[in-house]
Amino acid sequence: MKLTMNEKKKNIKFTILNLMDKPRWKKMKCVCNHNSVETEFPIFNCLHCKFQSQEMKLPRSPFKISLTSSDRNGKTKSEIVTCNKIKINRGDKYQEIIGWFNLV
Ligand SMILES: [Zn+2]
Repeated sequence: MKLTMNEKKKNIKFTILNLMDKPRWKKMKCVCNHNSVETEFPIFNCLHCKFQSQEMKLPRSPFKISLTSSDRNGKTKSEIVTCNKIKINRGDKYQEIIGWFNLV
């Protein structure tokens, strides 16, 4: 099968499923007081900054992972694959990023 230009591009593109432009938490104001380290995130529990930092930690480009699988005889083998697609897991209340998983 011949790949079209678009499909070729897709192979190097990094896809993030469940990405939101305006999750609910973005409307919450930062409540840090930056006069002291004790009254600002991460010591102070500011939800806006907490969720912001979770978003910053999200991978934005393809990365390599090691996959281990076992065949019918129970023999395990591992291979290095490139992950270029992830799916975000969000919280119901704030729509914040709880975590994400690879889709390979
Ligand atoms: Zn804050």
